[in-house]
Amino acid sequence: MIRKLLRKVFSYRVAPFSAPAEPARIPVSQHGIRREQVSNGAVKVCATLQDRGYQAYIVGGAIRDLLVGHLPKDHDVATDATPEEVRALFRRSRIIGRRFKIVHVMNGPETIEVSTFRASQATETDKHGRVLADNSYGSQAEDAIRRDFTVNALYYDPLTETIIDYHHGVADLQQKTLRVIGEPRARYREDPVRMLRAVRLAAKLSLIIDPTARAPIRDMAILLENVPAARLFDETLKLLMSGNAVRCIGQLREEGLHHGLLPLLDIVLDQPVAERFIWLALEKTDDRVRADKPVSASFLFAALLWPEVSRTWKGRQATGEPPYLALSNAMDEVLAAQAQRLAITRRVAGDIKELWGLQPRFDKRVGRTSYRLIEHPKFRAGWDFLQLRAQAGGISEELPAWWDHFAHTGHDEREKLLRAVSTDNGKAPARKRRRRRKPAGATTLEPNCAP
Ligand code: ATP
Ligand code: MG
Repeated sequence: MIRKLLRKVFSYRVAPFSAPAEPARIPVSQHGIRREQVSNGAVKVCATLQDRGYQAYIVGGAIRDLLVGHLPKDHDVATDATPEEVRALFRRSRIIGRRFKIVHVMNGPETIEVSTFRASQATETDKHGRVLADNSYGSQAEDAIRRDFTVNALYYDPLTETIIDYHHGVADLQQKTLRVIGEPRARYREDPVRMLRAVRLAAKLSLIIDPTARAPIRDMAILLENVPAARLFDETLKLLMSGNAVRCIGQLREEGLHHGLLPLLDIVLDQPVAERFIWLALEKTDDRVRADKPVSASFLFAALLWPEVSRTWKGRQATGEPPYLALSNAMDEVLAAQAQRLAITRRVAGDIKELWGLQPRFDKRVGRTSYRLIEHPKFRAGWDFLQLRAQAGGISEELPAWWDHFAHTGHDEREKLLRAVSTDNGKAPARKRRRRRKPAGATTLEPNCAP
C-alpha cells in the first residue's frame, strides 16, 4: 500500500546530485510511516532531545527499510546536539569511538545509535583520500551530503511524522534505484566500504545500482585493501548474513567484482570443485536468516573456508605429515592467510577450528569413540557441517544418516549399528574392553583434530 501511495505522489523525475537548497518535507499522508512503526526507544530519544531544543530525527536504514515494507533491524538518530550533550541527557548512554564519536543510548534491550550532524568536510584523511577521523559538526543539510546513498539520507521526525528528503531518496526508492550522493568515484575514495554497501543494499532491497555508481567499482575495488581488517570483517559478515548472500555474491561475480573485494571469496569462488559446497552453505544461511533462525558466523566461515582447508590438509598428508598434525597445520595456515585481510575474531576462529576438528572424528565409527562424539557439546553443529558436506557430494550421504540414527537411538540399537559398520569394513566387530580406572584428576588426552 505504501508503494502505491508513493507511486501516486512521487511520479516526478529525479534531480541531479547536488543538494537542493530546500529539502522536500513529506507529510505522513504521503509516505504512510506512522510513529508506532518505529522503535519506542528511538521515539523517546528524539522526544527528549527535541524537548531540550535540539533537532533530532530517525535517519538512515530504518526509514529506508520501512518505506519498502521491511522491518528495520535497528534505529539510528541524527541530531545537532554534540555527543557530550547527548551523553548528559541519557543516564544509560555512553560515547563510543574516538575518531568517529557517536553515542549509544540504551533503552531496555535496545541500543539507539545517536550521531551528531557531520560537517561536509571530514577532518582527517589518508593519502588516498580515505576519511580517517570526523568529529567536525555541521548542519542537517551538510549531514545529508555526507551520507552514502540518497535512500539513506531520509530524516524522519517521529513527533510530526514528517520525512525530510534532501536528495530525492524517496523517489529513488520508488524507482528502485540505488544512487550515490555526490560523485561516486570521490565518495568511494573517501570510504571504499561504500562499494560493498552498494552491492549489499541493492541485493537486500532489490534495487538497481545506478550506472554511474556501478561503473567505477571494478577499478576502484583495489582501494578496499586500505580498509582496516576489522571493519572488513564486519562488512563481510553483514553481507553474508543479510539473507541475500547468494544474490549479493552472484551479482559481484557476474560483474567480475569478487576479486579483491572480499579476500575470502577470491579463494573460495575460484575452485570449481568447491563451488557446490559454497553455494549450498550460502543458500542454507539465507534460508535460516529469512526464517528468522539464528545463524552462526563461525559455521558460515568454517563452511566457506573448508574446501581450502581440505585441500591444504590433503597436500600436507601427501608430503608425509601425520593426518592429525596435517589437519591442525592446515587449519592454522588457512586462518592465518585470512587474518591478514579479514580480522576474524579470536572467538570465531576458535569455534571454526572446533568444527573442522570434529570432521575426521565422524569417520571413526568404533566403540567408545562414537559414544564420546555424540556427547561432545558441538556434536550438533559438527553433524550439520557433515551433512552439508554430504549434500554437496563430497562424502557419502550414508555417513550423516548413520550418525543421526546412532545419536537418537537406544543402547542395543547403537551396538547393532557399530557392529554393522565394522562388518561392512570387513573388520572384526569392536571388542568390548574393560577400561582401567583413571587416577583422580586425570583427563583424556586426545588431539582436538584426530582424524
Ligand atoms: P543496515 O542497518 O540495514 O545494515 P544502514 O544503512 O542502516 O543499513 P548502518 O551501518 O546502520 O547501515 O548506517 C546507518 C546510516 O549511516 C546509513 O543509512 C547511512 O546514512 C550512514 N552511513 C553508514 N555507512 C556509511 C558510509 N560508509 N558512508 C556514508 N554514510 C554511511
Ligand atoms: Mg542501520
